[in-house]
Amino acid sequence: MKYCNYCKQPVKGRIDKKFCDDGCRSSFHHQFKSEALKHIKRTNYFLRKNRRIIAHLFEQNQLKISLTELLAEGFDMSYHTRLLEPKPGQKHYECYDYSFFIIENNQVQLHKIC
Ligand SMILES: [Zn+2]
Repeated sequence: MKYCNYCKQPVKGRIDKKFCDDGCRSSFHHQFKSEALKHIKRTNYFLRKNRRIIAHLFEQNQLKISLTELLAEGFDMSYHTRLLEPKPGQKHYECYDYSFFIIENNQVQLHKIC
């Protein structure tokens, strides 16, 4: 017995049927779409938050900050728009129009790309 992917009720008919009807099919895809949208919004939120933090530091002419302080501001290193490795083991992260990388003593160097 096959069960509907959306309402989990037994599905009658063709062996490859995945939903009872078009209603269940469209509800299933709508649900999937809104989950994806939530994930996209969440990712954008963290990316924009990171950019806001860097932009604020830039406005105050603070181009170097300790990683500890940066994280305390709410910065999340795992959210960036691009990762470059100019030399092996050297990671440059981009966050929209800014970039950052870790220098000595756990200091983070900030740059404005454009
Ligand atoms: Zn169903």
